[in-house]
Amino acid sequence: ERMFPRPTHRRVLTVANQKGGVGKTTSTVNLAAALALHGLKVLVVDLDPQGNASTALGVEHRSGTPSIYEVLLGEITLADAAHVSDQSPNLYCVPATIDLAGVEIELVAMENRESRLKEALTAEALDAIAPDYVFIDCPPSLGLLTVNAMVAAQEVLIPIQCEYYALEGLSQLLRNIELVQAHLNRSLVVSTILLTMYDGRTKLADQVTSEVRHHFGDTVLKTVIPRSVKVSEAPGYGQTVLAYDPGSRGALSYLDAAREVADRGAETH
Ligand code: ADP
Ligand code: MG
Repeated sequence: ERMFPRPTHRRVLTVANQKGGVGKTTSTVNLAAALALHGLKVLVVDLDPQGNASTALGVEHRSGTPSIYEVLLGEITLADAAHVSDQSPNLYCVPATIDLAGVEIELVAMENRESRLKEALTAEALDAIAPDYVFIDCPPSLGLLTVNAMVAAQEVLIPIQCEYYALEGLSQLLRNIELVQAHLNRSLVVSTILLTMYDGRTKLADQVTSEVRHHFGDTVLKTVIPRSVKVSEAPGYGQTVLAYDPGSRGALSYLDAAREVADRGAETH
């Protein structure tokens, strides 16, 4: 298969939206798998105590497994906690365990509580893996974990579900991003918006799509991810949809979206 272009620099993307169920985790693991399938090295950092990204990548995340929790506490390095996914030798995951559930409270008393993840994402710590892409899968909140993800990244990728309440809460998310830009990470940009769970049978889905495109212009990927049963079945098998059913519409659309992401990263921005 044709290789995707290597980015001009290591890209660190935070996948964020404080709404749950909009496709953060699904987009994280499938974009990551698609990039890995096309020759790029990708690290997924699971930052949600639920560990859904770890599950979808078939990576162990029982309590006590070396995970992002110990990394944030400064006990181990990212490379120590990274597992290679059995879906691709190019695809790594730092799992999240339920131990992460209390970390926002533990972090409050710590130094540099907003930049623990950034400090862990140093070139040295990533040397053993040398990823072209790092995706950080956020929990559905705007708490300290999501702030850590925004401080550690250069880019935010926002998945938006093509549903009635899609735009609700988005201004709050954007305001939080502005606060992070103003105080903690001046180089953060909302680089990518991905429309997910599109149902072509509803007029509403088209209304949401055009409204989002009107607001956000070229930030929105041309590819729209359709609602598809295969996409929702795959995590139950510890797989991305690219491994579970490579020819499915869901898999093909995530491949198209990943190609767009990669093509943008090959341009300097
Ligand atoms: P989030 O991480 O934002 O909470 P998820 O990625 O876990 O959202 O998605 C929420 C639910 O919707 C999951 O059960 C997932 O399998 C399902 N889902 C996500 N994308 C699709 C899709 N394109 N088609 C069908 N189901 C989807
Ligand atoms: Mg999730």
